[in-house]
Amino acid sequence: MTMPHLMNCSHSEDGWCLGCVTALWDEYNGPGKREAAKKGEKLTAAINNACKTLPDNAEIIIELSSGYADVELQIDGQFAAFTSSRDSLAESIHDATEHAKDWLSK
Ligand SMILES: [Zn+2]
Repeated sequence: MTMPHLMNCSHSEDGWCLGCVTALWDEYNGPGKREAAKKGEKLTAAINNACKTLPDNAEIIIELSSGYADVELQIDGQFAAFTSSRDSLAESIHDATEHAKDWLSK
């Protein structure tokens, strides 16, 4: 799996913003990479859902390390973090989105 050697994108000091992660995955899901494409579809769906669901002031930062992905959710000073393997990044983004829905309904 080709992943960026940089630890952050140009929009975040300490991680990757959703837009850049999406672009990365789009780049990664080239033709013939069926398994990766499946994962990419799941991830794209999770990101699209997050973008639709979360308010404008919500921030999701994704930090990738060698085997793990940290998804950090921040809305109005509330903070939650979800750690998973890189392969489960889509699930973590989904969890963060559900968590945000919970916050917003209160
Ligand atoms: Zn970015």
